[in-house]
Amino acid sequence: MCRHLGWLGAPVSVASLVLEPANGLMVQSYSPRRQKHGLMNADGWGVGFFDDDTPRRWRSAAPLWGDVSFASVAPALRSGCVVAAVRSASIGMPIEPSASAPFTDGRWLLSHNGLVDRGVLPLSAKAESTCDSALLAALIFDRGLDALGPTIVEVAAADPNARLNILAGNGSELLATTWGDTLSVLRRSDGVVLASEPYDDDPDWQEIPDRHLVSVAGSDIELIPLKG
Ligand code: GLN
Repeated sequence: MCRHLGWLGAPVSVASLVLEPANGLMVQSYSPRRQKHGLMNADGWGVGFFDDDTPRRWRSAAPLWGDVSFASVAPALRSGCVVAAVRSASIGMPIEPSASAPFTDGRWLLSHNGLVDRGVLPLSAKAESTCDSALLAALIFDRGLDALGPTIVEVAAADPNARLNILAGNGSELLATTWGDTLSVLRRSDGVVLASEPYDDDPDWQEIPDRHLVSVAGSDIELIPLKG
């Protein structure tokens, strides 16, 4: 189980979201507080952000804490829409930069926390890696993000043991699902954070219930139950 974070709001630095919070993704890479599967997230990391309408990414297969350059550059990367993740590879999955979220179709940045049987997913030439998350991302991109809820329900029906927490952003919207793992939301005065677990002890963090679709546009946050 990995940990991911999404931001939609005023332009802020990637460092302020990922590195500076007391329990941000950097700390979650070696000491997550709410992770149910896996002890740490040392198998890679990825940061994606929108530069106007263009998604840009920096991904690695090494632990975030060991990167010699990211802490120097991250304060200068500013964006109003960010999708970032640290990875704990599931057993049998390749550890390579292209298996680290976020994945992209050129419009969306997308991360997956969880595990799904690759046998229930279609093979896709568009998948960035052979890991389950990359195949799932390709399927979600293929179906369109408007169909994210139905796609998750369909995959869960094909693999009842699947855990399918998705987080995606397109520059003006964040979408997320809870299906088997944790997700919390923080409404700030300058934007909204969705994160696998709170990055600090602010009492305003709220847990999203399991099996929900969350959509964030502007300061509107909508929760829709997923039936499966
Ligand atoms: N199953 C995915 C992978 O191997 C995601 C793992 C996770 O959520 N820890 O990369």
